[in-house]
Amino acid sequence: MPLFVPAYYPAFRCIAGDCQHSCCIGWEIDIDPVTLARYNALPPRERKEILSHTVTQKGCTSFRLTGDERCPFLTDGGLCRLILAHGDGILCDICREHPRFYNSFSDRTEAGVGLCCEAAARLILTDPEPFHLICIENDASDENAVTDPFEADFFSERSDVFRILCDRSLPLSERIDGLLARYSLSRAAIYESDRRWQKIYRSLERLDPAWDAALSAWENASLPASGITEPLIESAVEQLIAYFLYRHLADAICDGRFSERIAFALLSAHVICSIAIAIGGASAIAPLIDTLIDTARAYSAEVEYDEDNVEAILSELEAL
Ligand code: SF4
Repeated sequence: MPLFVPAYYPAFRCIAGDCQHSCCIGWEIDIDPVTLARYNALPPRERKEILSHTVTQKGCTSFRLTGDERCPFLTDGGLCRLILAHGDGILCDICREHPRFYNSFSDRTEAGVGLCCEAAARLILTDPEPFHLICIENDASDENAVTDPFEADFFSERSDVFRILCDRSLPLSERIDGLLARYSLSRAAIYESDRRWQKIYRSLERLDPAWDAALSAWENASLPASGITEPLIESAVEQLIAYFLYRHLADAICDGRFSERIAFALLSAHVICSIAIAIGGASAIAPLIDTLIDTARAYSAEVEYDEDNVEAILSELEAL
């Protein structure tokens, strides 16, 4: 089966000990049955060392986080003791795959790296090339050669979406207008209703107090969020929209909410920009790109990676 990925994907590298928001802190990691069987087959001393840091509830075994919510195998230097002792092959599926995600279709699989990882967020937002896919396994000559007619329609429509979004002969604002018009979406409802969206984002489940502070900065901001005209920032915003489209549009094949997910991608990029500008100020471009990357990472962890939160936003967009 061909495996398609964004062109930036092969350049992804975990920055491990240099990561400020390690995925080994604060997330419950379930151990898949195949890996658990491998742990159980280890020599007694190694088996005991690993399994003594796990907990099993309702048939599911996971690593028991420490009091400060760290993976028990995370060193003070931000490295994984399991990898140091046994190599990459010791990892369970979740640890090995994070932050990768997959969307499966009849004739292909599509993968990407999730924005909640700070290394992935930097890679995505600083990619200078317009978003496009490459095939890295079982090469297929035609990206759009699909046998399922329903999926063929989906890929055709999605190609048009990316063609509009990535047409750099036009300013990004005109490309966004093109998407809004094609899907009969209201500019005012997405871009000029911050007070309403601030209440909705406040009502979502939240993990990190830092996200509360980010939302407060947005709520208290007096700056308009329209100052995204610097090429560096415009390119980053285009990549943000492309990321959300690529990752989330595929679910429309199951539930038909294609235009709602276009709106979700546009709204998400708008909210991230608005918060980054509120935190970082609209004038200093170099710090703003760093703030944008960190805000995108936080948004992804707080909103995008929580299915209930995404569903809440989609329902609001559906009701517009
Ligand atoms: S969040 Fe990303 S960069 Fe940080 S430790 Fe996890 S995979 Fe590595």
